[in-house]
This record gives sequence, C-alpha cells and structure tokens, in this order.
Amino acid sequence: MCGIFGISGHPEAANLAYLGLYALQHRGQESTGIVSSDHSTLYDERGMGQVADVFPREKIRRLRGDLAIGHTRYSTAGSSALANAQPFRIGYHAGEIAIAHNGNLTNAGRLRNELESEGSIFRSSSDTEVILHLIARSSWRNSPDAVVDALKRVEGAFSLLMITRDAVIAARDPRGFRPLSLGRVEGAWCFASESCAFDLIGAEFVRDVEPGEVIVAAPGKDPESFHPFAPTPEHRCIFEYVYFARPDSKLFGRSVHLVRKRMGQELAKEHPAEADLVVPVPDSGVPAALGYSEQSGIPFEVGLIRNHYVGRTFIEPQQSIRHFGVKVKLNPVREVIEGKRIVMVDDSIVRGTTSKKIVTMFKEAGAREVHVRISCPPTIASCYYGIDTPDPSELIAANNTVEQIRRYIRATSLGYLSLEGLTRATSGAAGFCTACYTGTYPVPLDAEDREQLRLFEKPARRR
Ligand code: SF4
Repeated sequence: MCGIFGISGHPEAANLAYLGLYALQHRGQESTGIVSSDHSTLYDERGMGQVADVFPREKIRRLRGDLAIGHTRYSTAGSSALANAQPFRIGYHAGEIAIAHNGNLTNAGRLRNELESEGSIFRSSSDTEVILHLIARSSWRNSPDAVVDALKRVEGAFSLLMITRDAVIAARDPRGFRPLSLGRVEGAWCFASESCAFDLIGAEFVRDVEPGEVIVAAPGKDPESFHPFAPTPEHRCIFEYVYFARPDSKLFGRSVHLVRKRMGQELAKEHPAEADLVVPVPDSGVPAALGYSEQSGIPFEVGLIRNHYVGRTFIEPQQSIRHFGVKVKLNPVREVIEGKRIVMVDDSIVRGTTSKKIVTMFKEAGAREVHVRISCPPTIASCYYGIDTPDPSELIAANNTVEQIRRYIRATSLGYLSLEGLTRATSGAAGFCTACYTGTYPVPLDAEDREQLRLFEKPARRR
C-alpha cells in the first residue's frame, strides 16, 4: 500500500508535494521520494524512512520547478530497499519520465519474464518498473500515448502519477481498486491518494479521477482527460473504508468517518451485547465504536490508550517488530475498565494474535466480560491488489470457525459484521472489491500468475 501526490503549475511544487506526502504518511512509512521538473530536466530525491526524516529543507530546495510527484511506500511487491523507493525515473527516446504507483499489477511476473527475455535489465524488484519498461519500448513518440500504450498491457490495480518535463499524468485502472483524487490550489492542479492531503495544503477537492481515466495536467492549461481502456465493472477496494484510509478523507465519494460509523451501527444491529461500555481499539476502531454506541445506547468510553509514537501494527513489515509493537502501543485505562462488561470494537482480525493480547489486557485490567465486535466480515483470502494481507495459512479466519476464533482470543463473545451489513454501510454493494472476505477475485489469477507474483513478494512473505 502506498500514498501518492502530484502537483502541476505551482511555484512551490516540491514543498506542497512534501506536505501532501506528510498527510499520506499512514499509507506507507518504509521509503519516500519526490521528483520535480522545471521543464528542462527532472530532479529527484528518495530515501528510506518517513517523509520528515527523508526531506530536510536542503533536499526540498534541490527539487526545482513547478511540477512534482511524490510517493510514500509500504511494500506489497518488492523488498524494503532504496532500489525500490519511488518515484522511479528513467530517460528514454521521448525524454524523461518518473512514476509513482499505488496498487499491485497481477501480470507483472509474466511481463517481467517476457521483457527480460527480450533484453530488458531491471534495477528493482518492484512490479512498478514493468510499466516504465513498457513505456520505454512503446512505438509512440510522445509520453501520454506511450503511457496509455503501456497501461493497456498491465492488469490489476494501479493508481499512478507520472511526471515528464512538461506535465503530470495521472491514471487509474479501469476497475478503480485504489483511490486517486483531483484537486485545485492557487491555480495549480493537484492529485492525491486521499483528500486529507488536499486539506493540509489548502486545496479544494474537485473530484475523483475516474476508474479507467487518464489525465494530463500541464501548467497553464485545463487538464486533458481520456478514457482509453475498455469499459469494465468497477471494483473499488472496500478495505480502504474498513481500515486503511484516514477517517477525515473523502474516499470514493463518501466520508470515511461516516461510513465507518455506519459499519458500527450495522454491527450493533447484527450483534447486540449486554454490556456496560463500548470501547474502541484506537485509532481505526473509533468511528465504528461510536456507531455501535449510538445504535445500542451503550455508553462510549475511551478505555484503551494508544501510544502514537509506535507504528501501526498492521503496516510494520517485520514480524519481530509487530509483536513488540502490540505490547508497547496500547494500554488499558484500569479505572474505566475495572468491573465492567466491555464491547471491544476493532476493524479486523488478521492473525488473531493482536486481538488475543488486547482481550487479555482488558481482563488483566479487571473487565468482567469482553465482547469482541469486528466491523467487517472474516478475512479469509489474500489481497493481490495492493494490501499486504498475509498468506491464507496465516489468516485465522481462513482456517477456523468464528467459535474457534472466539476461544483463541479468549473473548466472551465474538461477532463480525456481515458482508451485507458492510455493503449497506457503504450505501450499496455495487462497484466494490470484497475478495479478501469472499475469495472471489475480480481480476482472476491462475496458478502461474500467483507463482510469478512470488518474484515480487517481500522476502518476509515468501515461504
Ligand atoms: Fe481491497 Fe480486499 Fe479487494 Fe484487496 S482483496 S482490493 S484488500 S477488498
């Protein structure tokens, strides 16, 4: 999962890209980079770590020009290394281009094999580099046409920002798996994975980049929009609403916070509990817990405090840090919990180890009962479109019944929101990918695709 930001036609382009990436930091913390253009050449700076660490003031000063794109990365394909830090930049027959990608390409392995057999030399282990090779080999002599030519060959999930010497090009795959929005600030056009980036720089949200749309934004001109791909049913990632996006973002046309609240209301209807308090697992469980509380009439209470100086468990890439992180990042408020029957609201259970530790914390803090409520269905399948869900062998719900999971995490009761409840909360099922809850993949992968994709997997996920 990654965050991308771009801006065209602003004298402070690199500074605004820096701020935009800062707002998108939750989407990836392993590496970050910005490429800018002053219409004569591209400038790039990349590094490992978070935005504030990678970009001291002098680095931003080196990023000249009124065009910029940026990327903040959490690896779902390719290892966590500087060689895989984006944006990637190349020179080719039509000039220079750099690319920032959110999503995963499902046919990247096959394409890479094909390109390597024809002489291409790859510099990274990222699926994104395949797109650059396809652009460089296109017979089209101008960048927008070469980009479209390349994108017609890739499958899977891509929200992309590219920069040439004279324009920023945005593209979203025809199914629209990953979000990408268009904004306006002081006469410049900007793009971001989530609208919270626009809020930080004072930009106005204009609209979502449509699934299958390509937009070319050159300074001083209105953006040009194309729909070069064959029409395809939309499959926006429903998990963005459940967990990933920031609650203050407007995503796929709706407020993430309000959708999460509705998930909590639906959860309360489907799985009521006799309890004294509704307690969220912070931070992503908070809106659903508010909704549960509103619907059930059980008081909402902050009974678990999060240490914000520890990374989010789900996106820490190393297993050793993940276990360490659970212990240091959450602490129950004993005075709130003691003697109470708790409804603990969380956004998902992946392996079950974190939930088990939190339930244990509540019990050790004196909770009489812990009723666990999860604001999405059981996660039973891996994601091939850009979210780092583990292999099904590690997903507790892929291998256990709800009752077995309840026993494992030692909860008094356990209830998951149904798929119907989740889609009601998002105001209708049409147009969403729900593959991690159903195992039905909108872009099918055969055994060879899956085997080929292992070329790009992070070492930690190989088995
Ligand atoms: Fe999102 Fe799940 Fe579909 Fe992946 S499989 S795109 S996480 S809904």
